[in-house]
Amino acid sequence: MIQVFICRYPCLMVSMTHVVTSACVLCKYQDCVHVCPVEAFREAEEYLVIDPDECIDCAACIPECPAEAIYADTDLPEEEMSWLDKNEEEAPGLPIAEGDSPVLAD
Ligand code: SF4
Ligand code: SF4
Repeated sequence: MIQVFICRYPCLMVSMTHVVTSACVLCKYQDCVHVCPVEAFREAEEYLVIDPDECIDCAACIPECPAEAIYADTDLPEEEMSWLDKNEEEAPGLPIAEGDSPVLAD
C-alpha cells in the first residue's frame, strides 16, 4: 500500500536564508567570509550581502561578525527588513567576497 504524507506545517518548507544588515556598512573586517562553507558572501563597495541561493543556513557566520550584522531571516529586526530584499537583489550582480580585502580599506 502506498502511503502519502502531507505536511501540516507548510511554513517549515519555505527556504530560509541569512541576511547582512546595516551594521555591516563600512566594516573593516570580513571575519564572516572565512567561516562560510559555501562562499555565500558577496562584496559591495561598502558592505557585504549574502546570496540566498547559496546560503545553507548553517549560522556559522553569526558569532564571527563583530558588528552583529548578520541575522537569520526569521530573526530579522523590523527596522532591518529592507535588507532582506537588498541582499537578495544585489547578490547576483556582485563578486564573491574573498575575505582578504577590507570593505573599507584604511
Ligand atoms: S564581519 Fe562580515 S557581515 Fe559582519 S560587519 Fe564585517 S563584513 Fe559585515
Ligand atoms: S549562514 Fe552559513 S552558509 Fe549562510 S552565509 Fe552564514 S556561514 Fe554562509
